[in-house]
Amino acid sequence: MTKIEGGCLCGKVRYRTDAEPITTAVCHCRNCQKQSGSALSVVVAFPAGSLDASGDSLTAYQDIGESGGAVLRYFCNQCGSPLITRAEFSPEVEFIKAGTLDDPSWLKPDAAYWGEREHEWLKGAPSWPIFPRNPES
Ligand SMILES: [Zn+2]
Ligand SMILES: [Zn+2]
Repeated sequence: MTKIEGGCLCGKVRYRTDAEPITTAVCHCRNCQKQSGSALSVVVAFPAGSLDASGDSLTAYQDIGESGGAVLRYFCNQCGSPLITRAEFSPEVEFIKAGTLDDPSWLKPDAAYWGEREHEWLKGAPSWPIFPRNPES
């Protein structure tokens, strides 16, 4: 696989790695919902220490996860994008928020975490129309 790169919405924070991703997962925990402002977060795990992140606006929020352990959530303090997560429960890996990848085309989540917090409307196969982009107004 080629080098993996990504960054925040405003572009002030960038990251890259030569490491192979270990796994891709969706996380339904309430804290990921809160931080992402969405129903879930999509995360890719890499070996701890393999991500090279740069940018003065990279800021860490010290969170306590639903499991009770410390979670460092890195975000850009200019545009608010969540970028990197390091969690006490899994010191051997660090996660990127998959939406910040420059090229997300290869993503294929193989697990869901915190399924008990999954939004009801997400459960089962979606039955609503799926628009390739925005619906026509
Ligand atoms: Zn930014
Ligand atoms: Zn989570």
